[in-house]
Amino acid sequence: MTVPQIARVALDVPLRRLFDYRVADGESLSMADIGYRVRVPFGQQHKIGILVELPEATDIPIAQLKAIDGILRDVPTLPPDWFRLTGFCASYYHAPLGQVMLSTLPASLRALAPRRHRQRRPEHPLAGAQQAPVLTLEQEASLAAIAVGAEGFRAYLLHGVTGSGKTEVYLRLIERALAAGRQSLLLVPEINLTPQLEARLAARFPAAGLVSLHSELGEAARSRNWRAALNGEARIVVGTRLAVFTPLPEIGLIVVDEEHDASFKQQDGIRYSARDLAVFRARDRGIPIVLGSATPSLESWANASGSDTSGRYRLLTLRGRAVDGARLPLVRCIDTRVDKPRDGLSSTLLLAIEQRLARAEQSLVFLNRRGYAPVLACAACGWSSSCQRCAAHLVLHLADRRLRCHHCGYETRVPKTCPTCGNQDLGAFGRGTQRIEVALAERFPQARILRVDRDSASSRKQWEAVVETIQNGAADILVGTQMLAKGHDFPKLTLVGAVAPDAALFAADWRAPERLFAQLMQVAGRAGRAERPGEVLIQTQYPDHPIYQALVRHDYPAFAAAQLGERQQAGFPPYAYQAMLRAEAPRMADALSFLAAARACSLHDDSHSVTFYDPVPMRLSRRASLERGQLLVESSSRRALQRFLGDWVTQVEAIRAPSRLRWHLEVDPLEF
Ligand code: ADP
Ligand code: ZN
Ligand code: ZN
Repeated sequence: MTVPQIARVALDVPLRRLFDYRVADGESLSMADIGYRVRVPFGQQHKIGILVELPEATDIPIAQLKAIDGILRDVPTLPPDWFRLTGFCASYYHAPLGQVMLSTLPASLRALAPRRHRQRRPEHPLAGAQQAPVLTLEQEASLAAIAVGAEGFRAYLLHGVTGSGKTEVYLRLIERALAAGRQSLLLVPEINLTPQLEARLAARFPAAGLVSLHSELGEAARSRNWRAALNGEARIVVGTRLAVFTPLPEIGLIVVDEEHDASFKQQDGIRYSARDLAVFRARDRGIPIVLGSATPSLESWANASGSDTSGRYRLLTLRGRAVDGARLPLVRCIDTRVDKPRDGLSSTLLLAIEQRLARAEQSLVFLNRRGYAPVLACAACGWSSSCQRCAAHLVLHLADRRLRCHHCGYETRVPKTCPTCGNQDLGAFGRGTQRIEVALAERFPQARILRVDRDSASSRKQWEAVVETIQNGAADILVGTQMLAKGHDFPKLTLVGAVAPDAALFAADWRAPERLFAQLMQVAGRAGRAERPGEVLIQTQYPDHPIYQALVRHDYPAFAAAQLGERQQAGFPPYAYQAMLRAEAPRMADALSFLAAARACSLHDDSHSVTFYDPVPMRLSRRASLERGQLLVESSSRRALQRFLGDWVTQVEAIRAPSRLRWHLEVDPLEF
């Protein structure tokens, strides 16, 4: 009697284990089959899994093993380094391996009965073949420092202000990778940034296989592009977060643009950092990775500046703007204690806008809060527009007369009178983009004003229309959130006014200053990119604040040094490693007692290398009718934290919790 062959399979189920099957009689699998998808019975249903191993033995009696239904060879096997990457992701973020693996595949490859899609060739916005510019000396120096095509891991941090020519450096590196016969992976934080980058790549490399991978792509295109990456047809892959998992057998270069951007961190499901996984991937494959930013994350900066552990990343700097004659914008603070804003706008800013209107140039008024006003309230009885499902206010949207919750999506009509006392005189407090838009329209009735936020440009189509309007010069004043700050060339834009940035200076979240600095640098980068000089005006009550002073001097290194100093003093990342356990339940008491129980399991642990904080309600303590609590765990050693978390998470899983309680663990949390 022959012993049946055993197949170990990864499945998309929330269990920290793989599943053993037997290979059907008469079939035989070899090592070359590892990495194919398989169809297997699971409970009453069937599932698609991935064949990860052909083990010699299993703990389960052979007679109880079910047989694999079939092995799917329509797609090549997933390569070994893809297994190492997903394996690392699962172990570092303490997520079930099968879920990590399957969630990275295009949906049609996970489906039992994939729909047939029409095959279409990808179209690229053709900009006509583009001539490469003569490099600046700084670009030359950066390129000379980076080895592509040769073997060997090396991480580079390319620090350069907006317009300093970072993208041009990426293009040259990709060119070298192409010449060396290697694939390139280029990660960007935002879907909105892919079309223009694709156009630039397509113009430079018209003959190279170029594909994009992001969530707005239709399933057919996503699956086609993913396969092209796996079978080597695609030589350049541009994508957002999830694209870090794209199987690329001949990968030779990874670029992460805007590496500081929080969008690289997945905020639900498996909470991974695509940037950090990209660094793992480069090290694992022994290839170069370039992290680019005008305002690097403090983690990356610390890695590159060598104050702590000897500069693990090599720092490359582009100081000036690439285009001849283009100057950095002049940044000034407007002291709002002196020049008091009316309707949110100071007279200095209004005058500056007026000058731009007279010269047919564009202005951007920047405010990171959409809607008309953050709250509607009754002065007579104290009622305010609150979300019934969240611990948050409903935001007043006057454009369509709605009150909206920005956390759970709840919305309702604007009441004509106060719901509690009947007062007809309800007041709008605070200011959002819609309100600034109204104030500007009153002040400049002849100007064409365009508001750009998630309400006015929610889809990619709308966004492209907005960009076109701005680039055609069909708008005079833009009112926008940080959506407008990223990655676009608006040659007529010469003025940026930040109207209410101060709130972030005193936020409870200690990462808020870093985000504020990055945002303001980025909006500032929009001003005066071509031959016209730009000006940035910051309305603030604290013109002497070090953050603003660093902005005025375009001095990121000074800002970073000050922030890192504070972090070191306070024992915050990157000088400590953190993980956050979060729980949500209909009642806060349940969430907190679950966290307390989780904390108690750790007490058996004899290592004293991790520190626990107290379970506390989250800052947004209720969302969508669920109360939320969190428990922070910290260690000065990443390895000690990881070792601890591995055991801990299985103990936490064993805690008996109320049925409606949900919890998750986040490693390296970004938001508090
Ligand atoms: P970044 O990615 O740092 O914002 P880009 O690479 O997009 O910078 O360059 C900004 C602008 O300068 C683009 O219009 C680009 O075509 C141009 N540019 C880049 N490098 C050069 C160069 N060496 N000579 C002339 N123009 C350049
Ligand atoms: Zn009232
Ligand atoms: Zn809500």
